[in-house]
Amino acid sequence: MADSSATAPRRVTGKQHPKLIFVTGGVISSLGKGLSAASIGTLLEACGLKVTLQKIDPYINVDAGTMNPFQHGEVYVTQDGSETDLDLGHYERFTHATLSANNNLTTGKIYGNVIAKERKGDYLGKTVQVVPHITGEIKERILQVVRDSAADVGIVEVGGTVGDIEGLPFIEAIRELRVELGFENTVFVHVTLVPYISTAGEAKTKPTQHSVGELRRIGVQPDVLLCRTERPLSREVRAKIAMFCNVAEEAVITARDVSCIYELPLRFHEQKLDEVLINRLKLRAKAQDLRPWKRLVGRLTHPPHEVSLAVVGKYIDLKDAYKSIAEALMHAGAANNTRVNVKWIDSEQIEDEGVQLLAGQHGVLIPGGFGNRGIEGKIEAIRWAREKKVPFFGICLGMQLAVIEFGRHVLGLRRANSTEFDASSPHPVIDLMREQKSVKDMGGTMRLGSYPCRIAKPSAAFRAYGKEIIFERHRHRFEFNNAYREQYTKGGLKFGGVSPDGKLVEMVELPSHPWFVAGQFHPEFQSRPMDAHPLFREFVRAALEHSRRAPGPNANSGS
Ligand code: GLN
Repeated sequence: MADSSATAPRRVTGKQHPKLIFVTGGVISSLGKGLSAASIGTLLEACGLKVTLQKIDPYINVDAGTMNPFQHGEVYVTQDGSETDLDLGHYERFTHATLSANNNLTTGKIYGNVIAKERKGDYLGKTVQVVPHITGEIKERILQVVRDSAADVGIVEVGGTVGDIEGLPFIEAIRELRVELGFENTVFVHVTLVPYISTAGEAKTKPTQHSVGELRRIGVQPDVLLCRTERPLSREVRAKIAMFCNVAEEAVITARDVSCIYELPLRFHEQKLDEVLINRLKLRAKAQDLRPWKRLVGRLTHPPHEVSLAVVGKYIDLKDAYKSIAEALMHAGAANNTRVNVKWIDSEQIEDEGVQLLAGQHGVLIPGGFGNRGIEGKIEAIRWAREKKVPFFGICLGMQLAVIEFGRHVLGLRRANSTEFDASSPHPVIDLMREQKSVKDMGGTMRLGSYPCRIAKPSAAFRAYGKEIIFERHRHRFEFNNAYREQYTKGGLKFGGVSPDGKLVEMVELPSHPWFVAGQFHPEFQSRPMDAHPLFREFVRAALEHSRRAPGPNANSGS
């Protein structure tokens, strides 16, 4: 889309020192540090600066690959195939930065490196300690990312809440970086909470004062405070925070709850956060208005049309588990001037209550997943969408289940399954590739990161992408079993995309259906607010068309 180029980064500083913005959080978790860091990226890019972003996760896991989405939210996959924290998804959606494994630093990675160096004898007989060796490794890794990306500004979000034991070495490292790089090259942004106590009728500043006090105790004086609040903060409250936290008044920024996350850069810009940062870092740049973002928010908040889509998954209680999918649907809505209402359905509920749970939905999306819980409910949902000619979009596991459903109910392959769920299936239509079977370590068998795919012509996939070679990010072990290719083609399933060497089925679709498309990859990781992913965009378009034929829950939609 034309809009996206409006904020495309270009380098404007002739910098000697890397400029770094550190974002910490206080009082409680979940204050939106990640979105704040991402929005700072948006503001600086709009001024023509090149940014990179980094997330520090103080947990001991080396990466997010082994973490349960229930606890930790979605595992975000970068282009280079690293499994990272979902905040990297926000960073990529809010800026043009392309991130990799190094943009997510964990305690596990830091200690792993330091221990490996110690074993190699790199520390020349010294006692290896948290200070200076762990902190030294942290500083080195932070600077490396900024250097490698040739960014004007690196934005580093320190996960967790100030005061956490495991965060201490990271805070110490950023404190040292301030001393080493200098005041003009480093800014400390602290995201804090200013609760409104209705019985007192007042916004309370004490938690923020305590949180800043805690930061200062470990040597960090914040320069900017982003105060998360439900209500706007009065001038007096901001002045009070400024006075008692030792921060300039113009750097006390209100971060009010927003109904749409893409409003956040606009709210910060209104309060001149971009100017504060530019002045503080002595950047040669000028704050710019964010016209493309304003238009985007307008399209998102006041669209003329509306559709209802069902996402049938497993981690339904926790929307964060499907963060990128929710965002990609929103982007697709903006591209179609359509509000996308998502009904999140637990597939086990379909097993219990039947497909009537889907009644009135204008489209069905089955996201990725692992393990066999809820599989049959998803298969029933796919059958419903296929038979009722309701637009269907399958992602990764969603494609595998579409293949299984078609095998069972169209080709008559009873008990067709994936060997992930039924090792003794007579029709293992989804299976490991032969070369994967000899690998013992499960981690080694995962296909991760960006792979090319050749799109068939003509096809629904080609109508969406408009080009023959595309790149998409993967995170899965199992593949379409090539022994069944002929049977499926004869039965009416089309392979909309295959790997360029022809060996792997990457996309399937049903030409006899208005829009039934599935891919072995995760397109949601590449969708951008102003540049919706083509498959999501076409899925929502198909749902909108379907809603005009069968109005469903929003009888007035599209009129
Ligand atoms: N569990 C499936 C596999 O490993 C699908 C994974 C996914 O949907 N990301 O192949």
